[in-house]
Amino acid sequence: MRFGPGGLPAGYDWDTVFPFLKTQGLNAFEVEFVHGVNMKKEVAVKVKENADQNDVKLSIHAPYYMNLCGEDAVIEKSKMYMLSCAKVAEILDAKIVFHSGFYVGQTPEIAFKKVEKAMKEIVGKTSAVFAVETMGKQKQFGSVEEIVALCELFPTLVPCVDWAHIHARSFGGLKTEKDFENILSKFKKNYLSDLHQHFSNIFYTNGNERHHLPLSEKQPDFSILKNVLKKWDVGGSIISETPIPIEGAIQMAKEWKK
Ligand SMILES: [Zn+2]
Repeated sequence: MRFGPGGLPAGYDWDTVFPFLKTQGLNAFEVEFVHGVNMKKEVAVKVKENADQNDVKLSIHAPYYMNLCGEDAVIEKSKMYMLSCAKVAEILDAKIVFHSGFYVGQTPEIAFKKVEKAMKEIVGKTSAVFAVETMGKQKQFGSVEEIVALCELFPTLVPCVDWAHIHARSFGGLKTEKDFENILSKFKKNYLSDLHQHFSNIFYTNGNERHHLPLSEKQPDFSILKNVLKKWDVGGSIISETPIPIEGAIQMAKEWKK
C-alpha cells in the first residue's frame, strides 16, 4: 500500500516535495487542482520526473466546484474541467479523482442518469482513468451504491473510496472490521488490487460531513481499516486528508508497518 498527502506540505514546492516524501517513507501524492487546473505542460513533465525518481505515485484531484448532475451550463463547464485534468493526467500517469456533484432537488435516479451521460461524453474524449469519489453528505451524488453502479458502466472509471465520507454519511457506521468489510465487499474484486482511497477522521452531524479531524479521534479508526485491508490483500494508495495531510500520511505509513 502506498501512502501520501493530498497537496503540497507547507514550505515545499515541486522541486523539494518528492525527495522529502521519500525521507518520510511516503510514496503517493495527490496533486490538488481543487481550485482550478493550473499546471503548465513543462511543469507537469518535471513533476513526473521528480516523482518517478523518488518512487512516488501521482493522482490528481479535480476542482471542487463541478457538478455533473447540475444545470446544463454547469455540466458543460464541469466536463471541461475534467478534460483539462485529463491533459495533465496523461503526463503524470495519474488517476483523476472527482466529486460528481449535488442532487440539487432532483431524485437520485435522475441525477444518476445525468452523471452517466456526462461521463459517457468525457471518457469518449480521453483515455485518462477517472476515480469517482464516495461523498460525505446526504445531498451529494456519491453513496457507495451509486459509485459501484456508475463504475460498472465505464472501463476507465474506478472508485475512489473515501472512508471518512462513508463514515459521516452512514452516521458513524464504520466501527468494526465487519463494517469496513461490508463496504469492500460491494466493490468488484478487480478494483481491490489497486484501490484509490482517501482517509481522514471526520466530524459529522445528521449524516453530513462537517470538517476533517486528526487520526487520534478514531472517527473512523485507521488501525481497524488497516487490519481489514491486510486481511483482504487490498493494494493501491491511501491519500491523507487530515487537517495537516502530511502528518496523517506519516502516521498511517508507520501504523501500516506495525
Ligand atoms: Zn475529494
